[in-house]
Amino acid sequence: MKKEKENRSIKRRDFIQSSTRFGLVLGLGGVGGLLTNKSKAEEYVWQIDPFECIQCGRCADECVLAPSAVKCVHAFDLCGYCDLCGGYFKPGVMDLHTGAENQLCPSSAIKRSFVEEPFFEYTIDENLCIGCAKCVKGCSAFGNGSLHLQIKQDLCANCNQCAIARMCPSDAIVRVPASEPYKVKGDFVKT
Ligand code: SF4
Ligand code: SF4
Ligand code: SF4
Repeated sequence: MKKEKENRSIKRRDFIQSSTRFGLVLGLGGVGGLLTNKSKAEEYVWQIDPFECIQCGRCADECVLAPSAVKCVHAFDLCGYCDLCGGYFKPGVMDLHTGAENQLCPSSAIKRSFVEEPFFEYTIDENLCIGCAKCVKGCSAFGNGSLHLQIKQDLCANCNQCAIARMCPSDAIVRVPASEPYKVKGDFVKT
């Protein structure tokens, strides 16, 4: 019994290590890839400070682009791989099934994948994400806050004055050097 428990914890550790390694490759590859020639020529770009964001939801509507250049990203090294994920499920759901009526995300952009009892992995489909911050709010309230928002630099028009920054109630949108265009929460991030 003890042996089996040890094996299970090793399996989980292995999974998280390989997942974070995979996330590192994708995350850094993605972030590196997102640094376009356009933003290289710029000295500064707009970015969200995830520790200042209060998840008001305006990122979805105020961007000059539709859908917004703001997307949810996931810091896998902070995630608890929770079965009852506050970023995925609406509050109060009784049966943890993945029907659209149970999901917080209005565009079904979050994929829930079984890992092993009782762990689940959550990944974001950037093409479906509208940057509404509902999952970020849920994860911050009931989880580890591993889901957060970032302006994706391959999408952003780098407006002279970011339309979202003008409306942001917490001054969470700041100028950052184009050479370091992201302010992610963890080391291992995937969209
Ligand atoms: S407008 Fe500001 S506070 Fe609201 S979701 Fe966007 S970054 Fe967060
Ligand atoms: S709930 Fe999260 S993943 Fe879904 S659209 Fe809003 S920010 Fe994107
Ligand atoms: S700079 Fe322009 S395109 Fe980029 S997030 Fe702000 S409003 Fe959207």
